[in-house]
Amino acid sequence: MTNSKKAGPVRPGGTIGILGGGQLGRMIALAAANYGLKVHVYAPDADSPAFDVAAAKTVAPYEDPQALAAFADSVDVVTYEFENIPHATAEILAQHATLHPNPRALLTTQDRLAEKRFVNGLGIPTAPFQAVDTAEDLADALDALGRPAVLKTRRFGYDGKGQRMIRDGDDAAALLAEFGGAPCILEGFVPFEREISVVAARGTDGAFAAYDPCANEHADHILALTRVPAPGLARATSDAAIAIAKKIAEALDYVGVLAVELFEVAGPAGAARLVVNEIAPRVHNSGHWTIEGATTSQFAQSVRAVCGWPLGDASRVGGLDVEMRNLIGDTVDDWPKILAEPGAHLHLYGKGDARPGRKMGHVTRLIRRRDS
Ligand code: AMP
Repeated sequence: MTNSKKAGPVRPGGTIGILGGGQLGRMIALAAANYGLKVHVYAPDADSPAFDVAAAKTVAPYEDPQALAAFADSVDVVTYEFENIPHATAEILAQHATLHPNPRALLTTQDRLAEKRFVNGLGIPTAPFQAVDTAEDLADALDALGRPAVLKTRRFGYDGKGQRMIRDGDDAAALLAEFGGAPCILEGFVPFEREISVVAARGTDGAFAAYDPCANEHADHILALTRVPAPGLARATSDAAIAIAKKIAEALDYVGVLAVELFEVAGPAGAARLVVNEIAPRVHNSGHWTIEGATTSQFAQSVRAVCGWPLGDASRVGGLDVEMRNLIGDTVDDWPKILAEPGAHLHLYGKGDARPGRKMGHVTRLIRRRDS
């Protein structure tokens, strides 16, 4: 069966189907509501935060073909808020509705090996890497790439999960065994000075809009702080990072918001300093600052893109500097203090249990530079 819905922009009053029910889906839903659109959220967990703000919900596994088909038939367009979607799931959705970003973008970015080959194929550097399926592969890869190196599962990694550093003296085969036979890659260690990301969007008309690149700091492998503009990032390097995101979006015939995470290494300003770490085919934690900090938030931009609407202005509001801090685990208990702070924008995701490492909310602060 092919998707028989008429092509063309979704009209206000229409419904966006969102696969995944986390905070990203929740914030897409809130942005959709501002445009007079509804959302139908599909997620397996009945407690999903996005359900609180959805006009319709389906609670079903991602492998349920009937539920997926009924969901896709009931909406005007389908998008997703996470990339670990089984290929068969994406195929079913694409047969019954327009799926943005397209299944190829999903397939390429959900597998670290496919993603790195694709990025290198565009002439864009990544960490050096080798595929690792067995202990012998790993020994070969360590010979070629040296130590330290980073062993990662090809799929299902996030927030440092499915990832181990291999240092001198480590028993590499034992570390590989911890991943239980999952296909992996080994990456050479990139001695980066800074981690940055470019959040950008591409519309159905091929228009492209990027936010200013931001600098990201992690704690325990989880994003802790995003600052924009990235302090000390040279203009030429910033422009080169945006050009990389554009090239990737165009090569994937991408529609929607994407994030490209990059390492900045030592070298002359410009593209020579940049190494792509990974691509997220969705709105991204490092783009949360755009809700108050940019003229069009990444969530509004995602809605515009997947609905076939013109993209919005991605510039920073008033040229102000912006900081976004995640509220992880019980740091969310600071919410009364943050509420009392003039100019702090508090976002809580409606999650009940503040487990360590769980993203419970975030706070954004717009900062007037002393020299402005
Ligand atoms: P990832 O899951 O690929 O985003 O990696 C999580 C974090 O691990 C990155 O944000 C880096 O801080 C670090 N990391 C990952 N890969 C490498 C690498 N090849 N070289 C150095 N650091 C890395």
